[in-house]
Amino acid sequence: MTQLCFRCALRLSNVQNFEFYKTEKLSELDENCQQLLSFVNNQSKCNFCLGILQKIEFYREKCLVELEKWPSVSQVQILITIPPLIYLIESLTKSWLQSETKWTSTDGIVSIKDVLKYLVTIDLKEKVIFQSDSSLNLAIIFENEKSDTEFITNFISNCSNETGYRIGQILKANAKHDAKKAKLNKYDVTNITIEKLIESLPEKEQASSLELVKSNPIEYNVEISLEHEHLYVAGRYLKFSRQLPQTPWIMNGVRHFSDTSVEEIIAAPFEKIFQNSKSILSSSGREDVDVRTLGNGRPFILEIQKPKQIPNNELLLSAQKNPERKLG
Ligand SMILES: [Zn+2]
Repeated sequence: MTQLCFRCALRLSNVQNFEFYKTEKLSELDENCQQLLSFVNNQSKCNFCLGILQKIEFYREKCLVELEKWPSVSQVQILITIPPLIYLIESLTKSWLQSETKWTSTDGIVSIKDVLKYLVTIDLKEKVIFQSDSSLNLAIIFENEKSDTEFITNFISNCSNETGYRIGQILKANAKHDAKKAKLNKYDVTNITIEKLIESLPEKEQASSLELVKSNPIEYNVEISLEHEHLYVAGRYLKFSRQLPQTPWIMNGVRHFSDTSVEEIIAAPFEKIFQNSKSILSSSGREDVDVRTLGNGRPFILEIQKPKQIPNNELLLSAQKNPERKLG
């Protein structure tokens, strides 16, 4: 027995009209899907999407908070990351439904990502345009690496020895003869390994593994952030001091040569106007602390990581002039 939210019943029914996913409207379902209605229970956590599609209002509110941090923004790109384990849960549920009911999935199902994208963005479209090439990324990330690895570990211990052996071949080279002893970490549970794992599972074992979903409650954390892609400033610098390192020189926690560096001096005015906290200097060649850089200067690129605002040209030019700093 499983429990579905109404959105997952629609997904399993391959309903392509996303309007139906906004409010519960299951009367439109065809005969194949009507039989899923007995599993729909919106008050409990859905065993198919693990509750991800039951908190749409919460995600939308969080997106609005992020958008308010960039009041002048007109275009953003939405990026959704779904935990790989979801694909295994989907496969187990589909096998169970096929074995217990007359439901078939010949037309495929609507992806959780497509439903999320539609429901989260539909009301935000009054505020911003969603554009796939925008440099502002609205990222919605679901994760709980611990639950994923714990679930897979339990899953393997429930498999037959033969299936366990096959999974061992996929997941861990060092435990390929006995997957049940494998100590998994987050890097073992990826989209690719989950896909291979599903392929290697006999249909019968998939259907019978569904109970594990209920006995291993999985709670996903969601992180929503609106971040600008890194920006790059190119230029040339001159250095007249013989006591200034190019980047901070820190050994055993102690700073040497100078309390600052070329990187910090160049980055400081940019970090002020871009409101970011980290920048990385890449220059055309390294130089020793006591080497001066004269003539046309040394070419560099400064990577402005996660800028929180985009300055106008006037501010940018002021940052260019500011780095002239005299050291003692
Ligand atoms: Zn669901």
